[in-house]
Amino acid sequence: MAQTHWIIFSQNLLCIQSLEDSISLPQCINSLGLEAYADEAVELHRDTEATLLLLDLRHEQVDATEITLASLREVMLSGINIDFQHIARAWQYAQFLRTHQFCGQCGSSTRQVKWEMARHCDTCQHRSYPRVSPCIIVAIHDGTNILLAKGSRHTKTNMYSTLAGFVESGESLEQAVHREVAEEVGVKLKNIQYFGSQPWPFPHSLMMGFIAEYAGGDIVVDGHEILDAQWYRPDALPHIPDHISIARDLIDHTCTLLKQNS
Ligand SMILES: [Zn+2]
Repeated sequence: MAQTHWIIFSQNLLCIQSLEDSISLPQCINSLGLEAYADEAVELHRDTEATLLLLDLRHEQVDATEITLASLREVMLSGINIDFQHIARAWQYAQFLRTHQFCGQCGSSTRQVKWEMARHCDTCQHRSYPRVSPCIIVAIHDGTNILLAKGSRHTKTNMYSTLAGFVESGESLEQAVHREVAEEVGVKLKNIQYFGSQPWPFPHSLMMGFIAEYAGGDIVVDGHEILDAQWYRPDALPHIPDHISIARDLIDHTCTLLKQNS
């Protein structure tokens, strides 16, 4: 029989249950004292094995001893018995519902569209969809070394990673790669190759990964978003991101390429 899993957000954190050596989602809201919220549930996914329901309590607290609140990052890093992508999607959808109760064009109340993730305005027919923000992320190499940078958000951890940034309106992905790299570290690129993508729910990014070759210029960091950037040999890397991120996949893949070339 198909199981029901509840993705419940309370105070912007996910409600989880810890079982021996794994964490899981609640399978019932009645035992959590949340039965009054059943009408607010949104069905996110249904297949033969499971039904996933979203309940966004916003600032309401869950008063059940078996429930722990965890940030999405904590859940992602610790692993959960449900594909994290479902949780990421639920979080983005909860954000969307919060911010689209009213029409952005005429100010009327909106209603949920039953067959797609959208809010519709019956007054002016404007329809809104959850926002997805495209970001490029790029590993740069010169055939021997990989260029890694320390962002201003990572001064405490001293972590070095690939460069990344939002795509601007009217810009191609390749143009965004050239512009971000020029702005943040001042070097030129050639042979930009698509690598792969990863949804990143902090809060609604779609990371699109590339590998590019260095084409010239000295490293000059912007000193604002990027505090330091250096060339590293694949066998002498600094502290880099966890395995769960596309940044780490890009670094691992690029280092493998460099080792094969050497
Ligand atoms: Zn409207």
